[in-house]
Amino acid sequence: PLSLLNDPTLLKTDALINGHWVKGASRFDVHDPATGKKLADVANLGPADASAAIDAANAAWPAWRNKTGKERSIILRKWFDLLMAHQEDLGRIMTAEQGKPFAEAKGEVVYGASFVEWFAEEAKRVNGETLPQFDNNRRLMVLKQPIGVCAAITPWNFPLAMITRKVAPALAAGCPVVIKPAELPPLTALAAAELAIRAGIPDGVLNILTADSDNSIAIGKVFCSSDIVRHISFTGSTEVGRILMAQSAPSIKKLALELGGNAPFIVFDDADIDSAVEGAMASKYRNAGQTCVCANRIYVQDAVYDEFVQKFAAKVKALKVGNGFEDGVTQGPLIEDAAVDKVERHVQDALHKGGKLITGGHKLTGQFFEPTVIADARADMLCAREETFGPFAPVFRFHKDQEAIDAANNTEFGLASYFYSRDIGRIYRVSEALEYGMVGINVGIIASEHVPFGGVKQSGLGREGSSHGMDEYVEMKYLCLGDI
Ligand code: ADP
Repeated sequence: PLSLLNDPTLLKTDALINGHWVKGASRFDVHDPATGKKLADVANLGPADASAAIDAANAAWPAWRNKTGKERSIILRKWFDLLMAHQEDLGRIMTAEQGKPFAEAKGEVVYGASFVEWFAEEAKRVNGETLPQFDNNRRLMVLKQPIGVCAAITPWNFPLAMITRKVAPALAAGCPVVIKPAELPPLTALAAAELAIRAGIPDGVLNILTADSDNSIAIGKVFCSSDIVRHISFTGSTEVGRILMAQSAPSIKKLALELGGNAPFIVFDDADIDSAVEGAMASKYRNAGQTCVCANRIYVQDAVYDEFVQKFAAKVKALKVGNGFEDGVTQGPLIEDAAVDKVERHVQDALHKGGKLITGGHKLTGQFFEPTVIADARADMLCAREETFGPFAPVFRFHKDQEAIDAANNTEFGLASYFYSRDIGRIYRVSEALEYGMVGINVGIIASEHVPFGGVKQSGLGREGSSHGMDEYVEMKYLCLGDI
């Protein structure tokens, strides 16, 4: 698939440090999850390279922070234009290395680029404050200044958007960045970096350290222990988030963590069922169920349970599984064998505990799994507690509203949640009762560059996107001017 690129020079396999493409002491293979075939071998960098990149970023910092917001804005805007101009090629690289259907991959390019456009605009609006004095002899101000060298560690499910959501606000604020992209699909990140260079991002301001999983752990340690790195933004599992937080304790580092979810999707008896089915399809089966905001547990009220299950299953049966480059395919492969095993474990566990198989249920060849619906799901099933991260939807039945709210909140996670109702009182009551950072009401897709994306409880710290997304990357400095 990569031989079809309009611009073959976007296919980079070396890492980027201080404006130079670096081969690394060793290499690691990247595979197409749909075919298992090798796509490329990529630079496998280690801790010494990480230190070099951090030093390069630190050296590049003064010149970058001394540019005006407008100067940084112009460069970011150019990067946005280039990402959009190469949407087709970036989508192609993404589908090849990550597996999502080509149309979805091109959609992610638009979504990923939108953060660059948004923060290009925000770069000009990092406003400070003047405060009323507590003594007439003084004047009080708050400056907002870039925090310093930022590190980013990103996951494989959104190979572009998870990078731009962190890098764009950091660069806009005047911070240089060192990125350790996910090891399974690193090629999209490298192509985006090539476009950043073409947009005029100076040497050292954006560095990309590709690495295999062992070296990723070693590089993570360097990020956490470095006194130069002032901020780490991580998206990935709660388990790794916890490790990074512990490792960062000695240097008291500021952290932004976007971790696991266990999203409830509640359908009340007054809901528009067709709309709820459509929302559940989008929320559950996008990216083959591999997003941290995918509906993980579907709760449906008695009176509409059978109708929902029947209509939902009909749509799930119509999904087309296959290679993301084939026409009409809506479900690509899962990212790796371990992901397939996890879905199978959750499905088997649900069936053993009395779940009723409505459709799917089986592993297919390679890294594919049938889109699956199981009814009569119960709270003691694995799928009620753990994020499945795959194309399996368990449907739970509930009677009273409070039961659904209690079940929804009965998890250590608190990222996205969804519910369907037309009753305005219920909408307010349920929205306020859900212990989640985000609530979708009568809608299954909620992410956008306009909104603060993030979770509560063990789903993480901080928010990405919106004007608040910039807060991570600036420090407030209070100035007290006396003797007026
Ligand atoms: P997922 O469950 O999405 O695969 P992970 O949390 O395992 O997420 O990985 C997300 C990112 O974190 C990847 O870039 C991976 O290389 C990196 N990573 C995994 N373990 C560590 C670690 N101990 N320290 C630093 N980075 C890590």
